[in-house]
Amino acid sequence: MTRQPVPLQVIPLGVGDYFSRVNYTTTFLVLGGTTRMLIDCSDPLQKELHEATTRAGLPLGVNDIDAVLLTHLHGDHANGLEGLGFFRKQAKDSPGRPTIYLLPEVLTDLWERRLRGPMGRAHMPTKGIDAVSELTDYFDPHPVEPGKPFRVGDLEIEARRSRHVLPCMGCKIHYGGRTLGYSSDTDYDPAHIEFLSDSDLIFHETSGGVHADYQLLAKLPEPLRKRMRLVHLPDDFDRASSAIEPAEAGKVYVV
Ligand SMILES: [Zn+2]
Repeated sequence: MTRQPVPLQVIPLGVGDYFSRVNYTTTFLVLGGTTRMLIDCSDPLQKELHEATTRAGLPLGVNDIDAVLLTHLHGDHANGLEGLGFFRKQAKDSPGRPTIYLLPEVLTDLWERRLRGPMGRAHMPTKGIDAVSELTDYFDPHPVEPGKPFRVGDLEIEARRSRHVLPCMGCKIHYGGRTLGYSSDTDYDPAHIEFLSDSDLIFHETSGGVHADYQLLAKLPEPLRKRMRLVHLPDDFDRASSAIEPAEAGKVYVV
């Protein structure tokens, strides 16, 4: 079916941290123009995509996804890639390999240190049971350079490395004169917040340990906080008294 262009919007598939018992981990579906892109790819991808988009009133499945912007390799952001790659390789009505956009060092590790084990010897109907597979059998990878904008379909994207324990990038996504910002995983970093600050809507992470301290985010100027939504939430996060609105899975945020 021909897609109708839509304004820039985002549907969180999950808003929790890695250890949540009640939320899926933090992942987004971004729609703008006729492009449909995931930011990160958590597990269980099929279920969280189905539930969030059904709640949002525009049910979509993994065959509707054009691309994945992968911010980093922690499992709460990347555990869905194996299932996505297998499904898109084998489903009868698959549109083919998803494109995947990621930092060059993340691209190197994605295959060698994460996916080659389960996917490198996988049976594929066209190859036979003893065949060897490569990353490019499943995905169309595109390394991105922070500071150099790039296009994913109708979306224009800027990436910025964040301060995290693994190589990781936040991003700004532009379409139709509007801008969506996402911190991805980071500690509290004024320079990263400054990069995101000209966005119309910003999703910022918060959690304990190496993540951004809520108490510091709560001290940001009110006009900035009003444009911010919190994700990567621990289960004991006090949503009711938060100085920054916590995000909800399955809600459509028009940017
Ligand atoms: Zn992380």
